[in-house]
Parts: sequence; C-alpha cells; structure tokens
Amino acid sequence: MQLAAQMLHGPGHSHWSYEDREQWSVDYPDCMGTMQSPINIDMAKTIFSPQLRPIQLSGYSLPANEKLKLKNNGHTVQLDLPESLAITGGYAQQYRALQLHLHWGSPSGPGSEHTVNGRRFAAEIHVVHYNTKYDNFKEALIHPDGMAVLAAFLEVGPRENPYYQEIIQHLYKIQREGKEVLVPGFNIAGLLPDNLKLYFHYNGSLTTPPCYQSVKWTVFNQTMLLSHEQMSTLVTSLRNDDSKPLQNNYRLAQDLNGRRVLSSFQTTLLSAKHLPSGSDGSGEEEQHSSSSFHAGDVLAVLFGVLFAVTALAFLLYIYKHRSQNARLDSPTKSKVIYTAATTENTA
Ligand SMILES: [Zn+2]
Repeated sequence: MQLAAQMLHGPGHSHWSYEDREQWSVDYPDCMGTMQSPINIDMAKTIFSPQLRPIQLSGYSLPANEKLKLKNNGHTVQLDLPESLAITGGYAQQYRALQLHLHWGSPSGPGSEHTVNGRRFAAEIHVVHYNTKYDNFKEALIHPDGMAVLAAFLEVGPRENPYYQEIIQHLYKIQREGKEVLVPGFNIAGLLPDNLKLYFHYNGSLTTPPCYQSVKWTVFNQTMLLSHEQMSTLVTSLRNDDSKPLQNNYRLAQDLNGRRVLSSFQTTLLSAKHLPSGSDGSGEEEQHSSSSFHAGDVLAVLFGVLFAVTALAFLLYIYKHRSQNARLDSPTKSKVIYTAATTENTA
C-alpha cells in the first residue's frame, strides 16, 4: 500500500526510498508503530471468522472511453481510479476507490509485500479505498477505519493476462519518474481474483511513509497469474528518481505485536494436510499457482456428490413406485387382478 507523499504533503518532492527503509521513522514516526504493514501470514495461526462475508465490488467495469491516469511516481506504477468504484460488501462500512498500484521484485527475486507462511510471491497488487463516511481520503487517512486495501498476489502462469496487459502495455511510455499517460478504462475487477470469498483480514498501515495505521487489509488467497513476459516487463520497465531500475519496491514483514489475522475460510485442514512442509512454504507453491482449490471446496464437492446420489436414488424410487402404481391403476390389468382375486375368494 502506498500513497505518494506529495499527495499528502503538497507538491514537494518525496525523499524516502526503499534503500533507507530502516530510516523511515526518522521523518515519519508512525513507521515505528505497533500495527504496521505488511506482515507474514502464518496460516496455522489465522483465526477462522464465519462473519467475514465475500467482498463485493461495484462499478469496477469501466468503459474504454473513460480515461485513467497511469503514473510512474518513482516508487511504483499507480493507476488513478474514479470514485464510482466501491466496495459494497465484506466490510462493515462502504469504501470508495482511490488508486491501485503494484509492488514487485527484480529479475532475480520475488517482491510481494505480504508473505504467506514465510513465502514471498512474485508481485502484489494493492487497490486502495477510503471510507465514505469521511469527506476525502486525507481525512480518512488519520482514522483507524479510514482505509481499506484489497491485496492479491501475482505469480507467473502459462498465459498472458488480458487485464494486467491493460497496464503493462503502457509501461514503456512512463519509464522515467513523474511520467504519466492516459489509458482506456477496462474491467478493473479483472485485476483481482474471481474468488472474493477466500481472504485474510487484519488491521495495519500504509506500507510506505507516512505509514499511518489506518488500513483494514484484505489479502486474497487466490493468486493472479501473468505470463513470464508480462512479469518481466513489469519488473524491468520503470526507473526510480535516481534513474536506477525501479525494483524491489516492497517493505519487509512487520511485527504482529499481538494482532490477530482473521481468515474467511478454514485453513487448518489445508495447512495440516496439504501443506506438510509447514512454515518454509515450499509446499504451498502448487496450491497458490493453481489458485483456489481448498479444503472447503473439497468438502463442498463431496457433500454435493452425496446429495446428488441421494436425490437420484430417491427419484428412481419414486419413478419405480409410480410406474408400479400406474400398472396397478391401468384399467385392463387392475380389473383382471381384482376380478381374479374376487373370483378366487368367492369360489
Ligand atoms: Zn502498496
């Protein structure tokens, strides 16, 4: 999660960099707080919370004639979003969109901000929203429930991702810091997972200065896939304010300090049976790149099949029963049977 410092402190130049991460708190004391982001998500320690409803998005599909600003701000590539985009479900309150941006690594290593069981993913998207009960995002920034960020991990898959291509194809035009370009609108929801039911939730902060502790984080469990070429373009296209390659623009995991990480789904089955490798996370790769087949889904399918078999058996029974009755009721045969019986009885 990142908000350009010039947005917060006027048009002046922002001086922090990812090389001096340890010094951020000198100018931005909140960066030393006890509710900082990102964090490592230890799945064995997350708490299942059935109250976490699926995230619902509205207005995310934008027409091509609505132009959006895409900018290299020296720390990331940022796409400004119209306020018509909103989170309408999954949070206790309504949040409207502000911008989205990405964090990535280098050709030699991954660069997501959040990690799961100690594993860092290739890249991470943050879609930043602010609470509609505040007049504007600057006001929202200083309240604990001010901001909502939707985060998803990016990995390399077999195919080009058409939604990410809407961003990546323009990067060559904004290689230098401060450059911007207008890009056609598209379905922004395509940048996020199909499955908005499975996610982690915790209270944290902006992951860049000024590190305000005002973010309710949603980190989706399903991973987005980009082609190798797309990932490579993302990682190598931009330069920072020193005209060096803009790479490894992620902050390291911060202490939880007793915070609880909630999950919208049961993770115990998954971590116990599907991730025997435990906290090194190597066994987790398959689960994440093949996206969303989880313990809950397996159970759902099992129960579905059981239900279908039962229903089928019941229907067969009904059908047989009915055809028997039909035979009994058929005028010729029933008459024969009953007549015969009566005849025998009387005889
Ligand atoms: Zn971010």
